[in-house]
Amino acid sequence: MEFSSKLLENAVSEMSQLPGIGKRTALRLVLHMLRQPKEQTNTLSQALVQMRTNIKFCKSCNNISDVDICEICANPNRDKSIICVVEDVRDVMAIENTSFFKGHYHVLGGKISPIDGIGPHDLNINSLVEKVKSGDVSEIIFALSSTMEGDTTNFYIFKQIQDYNITTSTIARGISIGDELEYTDEVTLGRSIVNRVPFESSLKL
Ligand SMILES: [Zn+2]
Repeated sequence: MEFSSKLLENAVSEMSQLPGIGKRTALRLVLHMLRQPKEQTNTLSQALVQMRTNIKFCKSCNNISDVDICEICANPNRDKSIICVVEDVRDVMAIENTSFFKGHYHVLGGKISPIDGIGPHDLNINSLVEKVKSGDVSEIIFALSSTMEGDTTNFYIFKQIQDYNITTSTIARGISIGDELEYTDEVTLGRSIVNRVPFESSLKL
């Protein structure tokens, strides 16, 4: 792509670093910004900088938050003895949208994936095991996607906590959240949480 301006080229180059944004789309977005009032680009860049600078991860569940302890963990009406283990904040949002779950979450920040160089220590697993050890947890619900990486992660965590006196369950198989969320309506996802099955029985399938 030949550019008549180095500034234009830089902006397109930065924009095209984003996932799903090729050079052509980046150029279209940048040209769109040039047609808009300058203030709009300022507002956009300020929102991005503020988000990146000030955002926090909940000290209890690792959910993305504006404060040290997220609204879900801080809500006294929620049952902190039931913890739903998810991959990232999108899963929290999806499950919250169903209104079927009133416990707490634990956000792992990914799944174990040797191919991508992601091991258990790259994820927020230790803090989950510590919560179980503290004795305040009665049930862990695994809500990771039913991929090989999701299964590996579930099993790894299960091995760490199986000797403690808690229930472990998994959402109904075949329900994928996160990336495949758009294919799962809220009622189906909500039901899969309500009708969760013991984790051990899911291993035999
Ligand atoms: Zn939290």
